[in-house]
Amino acid sequence: MTAPGTPLGAPDVIVIGGGLHGCSTALHLALRGVRALVLEKDHVGRHASGVNAGGVRQLGRHTAELPLTVAAMALWRRIGDLVDDDCGFESHGQIKVAETEGELAGAEARAAELRALGFQHEEVIGQAELRDLVPAIADHCVGALISRGDGAAIPFRTTFAFRRKAQALGVRFQEGATVARVTRSGGVWSVETTDGDRHAAPILVNCAGAWADRVAAQLGERAPLEVIAPMLMITARVPPFIKPVVGACGRTLSFKQFPNGTVLIGGGLLGRAVRDENRTELDFSQVSVNARTVWDLFPVMRGATIVRSWAGIEARMPDQIPVIGPSATQPDVFHAFGFSAHGFQLGPIVGRIIADLIATGRSDLPIAPFHIGRFAA
Ligand SMILES: Cc1cc2nc3c(=O)[nH]c(=O)nc-3n(C[C@H](O)[C@H](O)[C@H](O)COP(=O)(O)OP(=O)(O)OC[C@H]3O[C@@H](n4cnc5c(N)ncnc54)[C@H](O)[C@@H]3O)c2cc1C
Repeated sequence: MTAPGTPLGAPDVIVIGGGLHGCSTALHLALRGVRALVLEKDHVGRHASGVNAGGVRQLGRHTAELPLTVAAMALWRRIGDLVDDDCGFESHGQIKVAETEGELAGAEARAAELRALGFQHEEVIGQAELRDLVPAIADHCVGALISRGDGAAIPFRTTFAFRRKAQALGVRFQEGATVARVTRSGGVWSVETTDGDRHAAPILVNCAGAWADRVAAQLGERAPLEVIAPMLMITARVPPFIKPVVGACGRTLSFKQFPNGTVLIGGGLLGRAVRDENRTELDFSQVSVNARTVWDLFPVMRGATIVRSWAGIEARMPDQIPVIGPSATQPDVFHAFGFSAHGFQLGPIVGRIIADLIATGRSDLPIAPFHIGRFAA
């Protein structure tokens, strides 16, 4: 696909942002023969896509996201075919532990709600099966909600695999290129970077993560994102004792052990993001809340040593679901941002959705709830 009058070698599409969603969009465009240029202000995978917990989770999703998360999981199961790298993806399930009978009743209601909507991937398990799957869980836990096909992957490796495959198919990546201004003239978008470089293409995609509201503002579009800094910590190696990723019904937690024995602990407690300086600050009172949860749920971890803690910069929308789809104000512009701390799992499918919209004008997935126009008022 090349617009009439486009110079030879010029891109059909400019993608702003080299996170997983920008790389995935560029790859899926290349698979359809559409030429993309990715402009990234820092380097590919520098922000949320490179530093997240790697959770590949259908469990606990907003109902609007269910069709997308299920379709994404189908891509994760054959991720090696898509990007020539298994991305470190392992599927040992994700579990949300119930600590009380009340929480277990809530888990049962949730699984029933999903079944009524036609989704079977969340099930309730009792105490005995929970203990089989997670022998180290504290005695007071009474059961859990489980999504058996879920798992985890390595974030940086995944984002780089998408980039590498996209590049092999002809996508150009320009790093250190901060988009400062976008304008449209004669049916072509012109993009100017802070260094004064100019690029032009008929179509623009905004995958700028926690900075995407600024791109949207250039287009006259309201995108009331909140810049957040989810925190993670990692322990020194301990003997292997757990395979699934574990969260909790009543508390904030994401807990998983890597094959090398280190344990990654997070789940969404927040530090502070200083996005203009590409910097985050940890909130140690919240880090200790996370550590307390682990202390309560995994007595075996009480002697573990935390060796490192960090936070990433992420965009959270007021309704906690992303913006995916065409612009409400401009022709030939598409958005994919605001993943609200759970966009890693969706990366492979969102790129396909945007590429479908560009190449065919439609998506086979229900994306209406994600339209940016919901914030117009
Ligand atoms: C600590 C943490 C843990 C998480 N854990 C999970 C998890 O377990 N599972 C899950 O599904 N999700 C998780 N997430 C969320 C997930 O990481 C994000 O939703 C996802 O990576 C967002 O990808 P992105 O491509 O939209 O954004 P980003 O990775 O932030 O990429 C956006 C890119 O755009 C670039 N950019 C911005 N403005 C410009 C500009 N003007 N010009 C050029 N480039 C620009 C930025 O530099 C950035 O590299 C977590 C997030 C964090 C921070």
